[in-house]
Amino acid sequence: MSRITRRGFVKAAAIAPLAVKHFSLGPQATPSDRFDIVVAGAGHNSLVTAAYLSKAGYRCLVLEGRPMLGGGVKTAQLTLKGFKDDVCSTAHTFLQDNPMIKNDELKLGDYGLEYVDPDPVFHIPFPDGSYLTQWRDLDRTCEEFAKFSKKDAAAYRKMLAEFDAIKPILLGTSFAPIGFAKPLNDQLAQQPRGKLWQRRIAMSAWEIIQDTFEEDHCRTFMLYMSHLSAEPPDAPVTGRLAYATARQQHSGRPIPKGGSGALTQALARSIESHGGVLLTNKWVQRLIVENGKCTGVECTDGSSYRAEKAVLSTIHIKHLVDMAPREIWGQDFIDGVDTWQAENAMFVTHYATTEPPKYAVAGGTLSPVESGVLASPDRALRFAYDDARGVVNLENPPLQIICCSIADPTRAPKGMHTLKVLGWQPYELKEGPAHWDKIKNEVSDANLNYLRRFAPNLTDDKILARFVESPLDLERMNPHFWHGSAHAGAQNAAQSGPMRPMPGWAQHRMPIAGLYQTGATTHPGGSVTGGPGRNAATVMLKDFGTSIEEVVSKKS
Ligand SMILES: Cc1cc2nc3c(=O)[nH]c(=O)nc-3n(C[C@H](O)[C@H](O)[C@H](O)COP(=O)(O)OP(=O)(O)OC[C@H]3O[C@@H](n4cnc5c(N)ncnc54)[C@H](O)[C@@H]3O)c2cc1C
Repeated sequence: MSRITRRGFVKAAAIAPLAVKHFSLGPQATPSDRFDIVVAGAGHNSLVTAAYLSKAGYRCLVLEGRPMLGGGVKTAQLTLKGFKDDVCSTAHTFLQDNPMIKNDELKLGDYGLEYVDPDPVFHIPFPDGSYLTQWRDLDRTCEEFAKFSKKDAAAYRKMLAEFDAIKPILLGTSFAPIGFAKPLNDQLAQQPRGKLWQRRIAMSAWEIIQDTFEEDHCRTFMLYMSHLSAEPPDAPVTGRLAYATARQQHSGRPIPKGGSGALTQALARSIESHGGVLLTNKWVQRLIVENGKCTGVECTDGSSYRAEKAVLSTIHIKHLVDMAPREIWGQDFIDGVDTWQAENAMFVTHYATTEPPKYAVAGGTLSPVESGVLASPDRALRFAYDDARGVVNLENPPLQIICCSIADPTRAPKGMHTLKVLGWQPYELKEGPAHWDKIKNEVSDANLNYLRRFAPNLTDDKILARFVESPLDLERMNPHFWHGSAHAGAQNAAQSGPMRPMPGWAQHRMPIAGLYQTGATTHPGGSVTGGPGRNAATVMLKDFGTSIEEVVSKKS
């Protein structure tokens, strides 16, 4: 990763943690300390699991390889002093449906978690000067669609109503471990028009959007939203992604006050307050296996830690498999690891600015927290093709633009802004992934130049500093982002539901007794959902002879 300031080029910045506690300072654990659970890696999901297990009374030790915990959910100073940059994720949209937040199961507000709910939700300016804005208010959003097509405005309203009717089933399956609830298709079969939904889910997002909307701007908006989880919208079985806009019509795209990392900080505080210990700079390199059972881990610094009940991993399966003799895993597991596929990677530039982006709208300008550019449906349909060819496509690059300081002034010094510009590019370039180090600044420049066509106020004098993260940098920062995959790997039909991480091993219990897996390589996959974390807790608590319901009902 490189950081450039106005005063010149500053090389290889290590991410500077914010002046908030980040848990490398807590009570130090020694190998003789007794822990029930040892957790390898501190992404938000493993912290969610550890928080439930700690609440249940199990003493947890969390070992994070990086200097700061949180994985894809952390906030740090990447550009200049006083700027709080979300290193990866920002919007916690999907998390809002997790019972952990929805039913306030862990009381994370007591540990500092607070959400800001930006309105507008999302804004897309188009190359012809028109635009479509999603507001929290449905009628106002429908008016935006109606500017282009009254029929599409009605179609959007209908789509939302249909989605609402089935939403508890669609989302419910994400927050239940595989095998703990009836398969989605069986549940749908019992619903009125459930067979239509079976068909829709098996279709591609593009097929649904094309059938539902007649006008290109409306189609482009819907396609953009469907692509935020990085699956090509024309891939089979992406049908539910066509409903991404409908989903966020209700939930919005909330952001934690103070930064995305406020979530993982709150989880860490919860774990600590229940007697747990969190250590950073602890790279786990080996699983300790005794008499066929995983009983602890060994770190690169020579330290080792024992778990009396279980080891929980959020290490990428591609790396986990090398941490114990291969013959222990069994052929099915090895086959699943070997055939695991990456996804279209992310490319990120963080800026410190003196102005937010300003987009031209009727009567003036609009500065939303989240916006995106996508020229046309055709451009969205190029994602899979470019990724397969290993070619960086800088022609009208689709971008996501996030400026949290507009709604949360705590993110930047007074009157200044944090700006994050994200795009999607292949990790595997024809020249090899190392080529990213040569071209990343050029790609970052091209993205900014394109963005300036829509937000011309972002001139050089408004930009104080930048920090670039190529797909290769993302993997270096967090090896769980294998091959630049923000969701640890593709979330296609071959790697979803009972196929994640592979058939036969989707229930968080790994082939080695005493070893459990959570995180984005497990159901329901990546993004900030906390789903894999809560689901893993459900399975582990059941195996320990209790239940998540029992733990949630505990007062403390
Ligand atoms: C640029 C970017 C933007 C994103 N934006 C959003 C967004 O706005 N909204 C959203 O919902 N999602 C977003 N995502 C996706 C989201 O951040 C991730 O899918 C999610 O954070 C994954 O969480 P996780 O719990 O699976 O693990 P991770 O966050 O990947 O954490 C895994 C942790 O394990 C540690 N680790 C790995 N191996 C070892 C080892 N051997 N020893 C010790 N520690 C180890 C890593 O250092 C890391 O801290 C974004 C991702 C990226 C890259």
